[in-house]
Amino acid sequence: MQPKSIVIVGGGTAGWMAANLMAKKWRNSNIDITLVESPDIGIIGVGEGSTPQLKAFFDKMDIAEHEWMPQCNATYKLGINFKNWSTKKGFEQYFHPFDSALDLHTRKKFILNCYGRRLGDDVKTLPNDFFIAAYLAKQNLGPHANSNFPFPVNYGYHFDSHLLGKFLCDKAIELGVEHISGNVTDVALHLNGDIEKLSVDSVGWLSADFFIDSTGFRSLLLQNTLKVPFVNFKENLFNNSAVIIPSPSSNKRPPQTTSTALKNGWAWDIPLTNRTGNGYVYSSDFCSSEEAEIELREKLNLLDSDVEARHLKMKVGRVEQHWAKNCLAVGLSQGFIEPLEATALHLVQETIEHFISAWDKGNFTNTHAAAFNKNINQRFDGIRDYIVCHYKLNSRTDSEYWQQNARNTKTSGSLAEIINVWLNREDLAQYWEQSTQAKSYSVVSWHCILSGYGIFPELNQKINTQAMSVNMDEVHQFLSQCSRNFPDHTQQLNNLLK
Ligand SMILES: Cc1cc2nc3c(=O)[nH]c(=O)nc-3n(C[C@H](O)[C@H](O)[C@H](O)COP(=O)(O)OP(=O)(O)OC[C@H]3O[C@@H](n4cnc5c(N)ncnc54)[C@H](O)[C@@H]3O)c2cc1C
Repeated sequence: MQPKSIVIVGGGTAGWMAANLMAKKWRNSNIDITLVESPDIGIIGVGEGSTPQLKAFFDKMDIAEHEWMPQCNATYKLGINFKNWSTKKGFEQYFHPFDSALDLHTRKKFILNCYGRRLGDDVKTLPNDFFIAAYLAKQNLGPHANSNFPFPVNYGYHFDSHLLGKFLCDKAIELGVEHISGNVTDVALHLNGDIEKLSVDSVGWLSADFFIDSTGFRSLLLQNTLKVPFVNFKENLFNNSAVIIPSPSSNKRPPQTTSTALKNGWAWDIPLTNRTGNGYVYSSDFCSSEEAEIELREKLNLLDSDVEARHLKMKVGRVEQHWAKNCLAVGLSQGFIEPLEATALHLVQETIEHFISAWDKGNFTNTHAAAFNKNINQRFDGIRDYIVCHYKLNSRTDSEYWQQNARNTKTSGSLAEIINVWLNREDLAQYWEQSTQAKSYSVVSWHCILSGYGIFPELNQKINTQAMSVNMDEVHQFLSQCSRNFPDHTQQLNNLLK
């Protein structure tokens, strides 16, 4: 049953990640992998933040940081700093960390304090005070400790997506992937509905046993040819547009993404080694592209600058089946949940890895396709819930956009249940344990968003003694002492050049 050939259409980050992972997996078999990329259409060229999953990708590919990071102007990312999403006093800003083994003890104290605060006790609950990533980010320290400190810290990256695509292209070619520059202009099907071959303007017809659709929002094979339906998330994720303006790199290069809520959406700030990536993600139902551009320029102090802005449309949702017939969609062609938590490449990687294992296990048949699709759908829906939570719980009143988000009742049952459990002072960890959908994010992340927004009842006079037992001086001392073992972020980036 072993296939002889796979054709990947699309040379964006998704297509090249698929090419690398598949070429590595099947390097000792006789499967030919070809990637066709349009010389005319180009890649979307945004998407510059990641989760720690991207580190797992490079580890799996045996690619060291010094090899790829300088080539992609990459920096380290310890988490996301959320600004102005909540207007509650003391909660105008919070840090969502990638938590690490080193957080073992302080994490428990954080959860205990969140519980105490839910009971009405006046205790500290901002994640900023409990996680090593937050301590390091605040001091501009990188994630690699000195060699005398044997506790690794979890982290992701920021990178230039064009350069990453180029890097991954070269790597895939080294692994034996054939690269064709050409436009797919037609698709021929077998009688059973499988894809038979593609017409490529530069080389003619190209047949294969299996096809990967990485054609971005176009979804040429899966949605356009195989007619797999798209499930739109617009009823609870309003944003459908973005405007992007780069700015000069700051000397500090903070090892974190900053996400600032604006009038009709939010803006990202991603520090690379040579520039800062900025973008405003908004809903065109609430403001025009000109208004969004002016608001972003004002924020960046670039109102009078002639640096060009790029405007993009986003299709937010997912396909019903990611793997249909002899085709798998990967990347924007399978769906996109807006970039607030930088999860797109995370899902790309999960999709490819789960597909490889399901296809392999089924002896290269569709035996496990239904289970695979269910699993990936759950991942998408779980991430969607976490993102929707940011909008649903906002307390801003400065625009109709934020007020409609807060009034929105079209949230999933799973998200409504999490918020109820929290507000009813029940055990969130126990609920999380039983829920499949909520597991797309860790129970710590759920605590971070709910406490970071200040979703708590009024303070009581009566003090809960259990929560009082958390000694914040001890927590502070522990994290400060740990952080002394981590060199400066810029220094760590410079070390990669040596
Ligand atoms: C505003 C915004 C911000 C984002 N931020 C993040 C982030 O912080 N983190 C993150 O992980 N992700 C982010 N993403 C998502 C990220 O950009 C994408 O997941 C990633 O770039 C992968 O894109 P892709 O490869 O699926 O598609 P694309 O980059 O669009 O590539 C599509 C490819 O298909 C080819 N193609 C199309 N049609 C044809 C044809 N007929 N014949 C041949 N080739 C064809 C094109 O030439 C191109 O090579 C963001 C997305 C947006 C819109």
